Amino acid sequence: MNSDRINAAARKHMARIKSLPCGVCGQPGPSEAHHIKQGLHFICIPLCVDCHRGPFNGWHGQRRIWNVKKLDELAVLSQTIEALTKG
Ligand SMILES: [Zn+2]
Ligand SMILES: [Zn+2]
Repeated sequence: MNSDRINAAARKHMARIKSLPCGVCGQPGPSEAHHIKQGLHFICIPLCVDCHRGPFNGWHGQRRIWNVKKLDELAVLSQTIEALTKG
C-alpha cells in the first residue's frame, strides 16, 4: 500500500475509525484501523493492539477473543458503520 495515494476522504474516515473504541473488546480509543481488505480504506475497523495484533487474542494471531465473542471482521464492520451513523 502506498500511503501517498490515500486521498483526503479516506484519511478523514480512518481518523474517525481510530477514534472509536475497539470493536471486539470495547477498550476506549484511540484504536488501530484494521483493513479487511488491504488498500480498501473504507472497510476498516477499530481494534485495540491486543485484539488486532496480539499473538493470542489478535486477528493477526490466534483470534481467541474473537472466537469467544463469536465475532468476525464483517460483524465488527457492521457495528462500526452503526456507530458512525449514530455519530
Ligand atoms: Zn480490543
Ligand atoms: Zn490488521
